[in-house]
Amino acid sequence: MTAAAPKAEALVLEGPGRLRARELPLPDVGDGDGILRVEACGLCGTDHEQYSGALPGPFPFVPGHEVVGRLEAIGDGAAGRWGVTEGQRVAVEVFRSCARCRPCLEGAYRHCREHGLSDMYGGVSLERAPGLWGGYATHQYLAPGSLLHPVPEGLEPEVASLFNPLGAGIRWAVTVPGTAPGDVVAVLGPGIRGLCAAAAATEAGAGFVMVTGRGSRDAGRLAIAPRFGATLTVDVDEADPVAALKKATGGLADVVVDVTAKAPEALGQAVALARPGGTVVVAGTRGSADTPGFRPDLLVYKELRLLGALGVDAPAYRAALDLLAGGRYPFAELPRRTEGLAGLEGLLQTMAGDGAGPPPVHGVLVPGR
Ligand SMILES: [Zn+2]
Ligand SMILES: [Zn+2]
Repeated sequence: MTAAAPKAEALVLEGPGRLRARELPLPDVGDGDGILRVEACGLCGTDHEQYSGALPGPFPFVPGHEVVGRLEAIGDGAAGRWGVTEGQRVAVEVFRSCARCRPCLEGAYRHCREHGLSDMYGGVSLERAPGLWGGYATHQYLAPGSLLHPVPEGLEPEVASLFNPLGAGIRWAVTVPGTAPGDVVAVLGPGIRGLCAAAAATEAGAGFVMVTGRGSRDAGRLAIAPRFGATLTVDVDEADPVAALKKATGGLADVVVDVTAKAPEALGQAVALARPGGTVVVAGTRGSADTPGFRPDLLVYKELRLLGALGVDAPAYRAALDLLAGGRYPFAELPRRTEGLAGLEGLLQTMAGDGAGPPPVHGVLVPGR
């Protein structure tokens, strides 16, 4: 008699709003791949948009792309290439890299010609073996080409899962715009990415950081923004952010970072907030072509740099893990809602705005709960 093959418990998104618990067999590990025991999977707008169907998904699939866990099994080749050992706690990047094509060799593996967006963790069909391509499960498959980062000792998995939004904050608010010490930085959107962008800009030496939000949903987020480096917070329903920034600093922003979600008017505000010669980074997606209040002529008259930013890269992820471990900002105390597999659907509904109460600043799945 042979023992039953080990199984993973997973949540499979079969279609919009249809999340089902399934047991999936764990694959055998070869020389170049591995299996992660998922300890925490951070949730963001992508998660609730996949759930609601606002984002098209490769149904059926196992979502979850902000994953931290322990290496349960790993091939010798993979261990050598990734520089890790069995049992180690690691953070898993969303994208994979072939390490051969030109974008990969230049570090822009988000545009890898072999893997690209269709191979991102949390977005691969269950029908592609072994199916365990996301963090909504007790185990995630680590394919060749995965990119892993060791999690510093003492960093709790739920907090460590912020490597993803904080890596984004570092790349979008510092690396991409080239934020320099003393800069005036305006961050539009006080969600988890906005708070992370504020902390990243502060860490880079920004002289002044403004964070904007809108209405009662954002009030609690704006209230904690000063603990993440914000010098000034503005509710754009109550005050004109341009006037508020001018009053506080005597001028406009060197760098504007738009991390809003579904806020079509943010682009117009971002361009209005930037000083002549300033930089605007657009990283929040608006899901529509509407841009009320956007005056393209201001790009010309002010000679602005308008940059798009997609995703994060390895240097920013490593810097994020170090910043989290350093404990200089209260990331561990963020208003957080943590659920196990059974409670995840309710959390996703709340994050989508369909549940009771406002969405948490940080939502996390802990599959072992
Ligand atoms: Zn995400
Ligand atoms: Zn590549």
